[in-house]
Amino acid sequence: HLPTAELQAIDAAHHMHPFTNDGELGQKGARVITSAKGVFLKDSEGEEILDGMAGLWCVNIGYGNDSIAEVAARQMRELPYYNTFFQTTHVPAIALAQKLAQLAPGDLNHVFYANGGSDANDTNIRMVRTYWAEKGQPERDVIISRWNAYHGSTIGGTSLGGMKGMHGQGSLPIPGIEFIEQPNWYAEGGDMTPEEFGLARAQELEAKINEVGADKVAAFIGEPIQGAGGVIVAPDGYWAEIQRICQKYDILLIVDEVITGFGRTGNWFGSQTLDLKPDIMTVAKGLSSGYVPIGASLVSDKVAEVLAGTEFNHGYTYSGHPVACAVALENLRIMEEEGIIEHVRDVAAPYLAEKWHELADHPMVGETKIVGLMASLALTPDKDARAPFASDAGTVGLIVRERSFANNLIMRHVGDRMVISPPLVITKDEIDLLIARARKALDEGYEIVKE
Ligand code: PLP
Repeated sequence: HLPTAELQAIDAAHHMHPFTNDGELGQKGARVITSAKGVFLKDSEGEEILDGMAGLWCVNIGYGNDSIAEVAARQMRELPYYNTFFQTTHVPAIALAQKLAQLAPGDLNHVFYANGGSDANDTNIRMVRTYWAEKGQPERDVIISRWNAYHGSTIGGTSLGGMKGMHGQGSLPIPGIEFIEQPNWYAEGGDMTPEEFGLARAQELEAKINEVGADKVAAFIGEPIQGAGGVIVAPDGYWAEIQRICQKYDILLIVDEVITGFGRTGNWFGSQTLDLKPDIMTVAKGLSSGYVPIGASLVSDKVAEVLAGTEFNHGYTYSGHPVACAVALENLRIMEEEGIIEHVRDVAAPYLAEKWHELADHPMVGETKIVGLMASLALTPDKDARAPFASDAGTVGLIVRERSFANNLIMRHVGDRMVISPPLVITKDEIDLLIARARKALDEGYEIVKE
């Protein structure tokens, strides 16, 4: 390929990067990733980078799996494309739907395919509203979500998400989306115990339902663990209370498992880890380990039975794309054959947890949180007060992220929280390397900010 500087110049001239200030990036030049194997990326300068984020929380089985490439090539030769609109179907879509119904908890026996998580959530908005309309209650169209949630970047996904900065771009949310506060005890819990705080935040759902009117509310949506919001783990008791309130008012529960699905929390789904009983589940990312774009809504018998009585005028050209379905199926086969869930639960997650919590001895680290292989830590100038850095929230996190990047570890920051979510196949030696580089990044960041 072309020399790095030339690639960077072309990139800066023509490529608009998602969630990026392109002007700033253009000055520095984006790092050009050229190949990847296991948990490591390689860049155009030959540097090896440990990918502590599994791409965007998605490359669960790790990079460079040949059998996935072979399955994709075979499927492209046999049937590169066909759709499942109207009166047709095909084997990869059938087989994957059956497999997902088998793996998913409860009676999520029906699959509506999408291209990723955002448009699966768009499907969910239309699906729950159609569900209530079909049941003769079309005025039940309000969906309650949480501030600081992330549900995607489409108009629907951004609207469901609780990122105020995103709402500001594009005059969002769309009508009929309401928000309650997030269960972030560390930042917002004050003097309450985590459990008291979690319960209080869950009970905001009941207050919101009463404010809106129970006969107007269609659904509540939440991530089992808020990922892009900073790996916010709700206190014990929070989800049980949310579940109780949804049942009391007959509100559909949409659980967005785009990050927590497919082994991330040490079970197939976060709903199993947290004992949730969703009516609809959003999946994407780890479904194909990111090798091809695919997402889906997994739908309960109760919802699917109502929709079966009407024509749901919704679908994407690539809903149930045969190559994507074949790749996802192979990905799930590999996860089972290689015992990846067991590896997370019995080996990688306990080991990472031990090492991650040790980072709490760092002078700049407040809380450390981890569930399965998703972890976060809060940066603070005052551990006892659980205080954020006073000025420019996010700057310290950004400094640590950049030090991490310079030390060949991909780690993410969300404000003053650092986040990791490595490939699920990560070994103990690789975890040691990850922790060593994270600590180095924290040390170097601390040197910069301690004055
Ligand atoms: N939902 C959650 C919980 C996510 O974390 C994401 C992406 O990070 C999405 C939805 C959007 O998925 P996609 O980027 O595949 O559209």
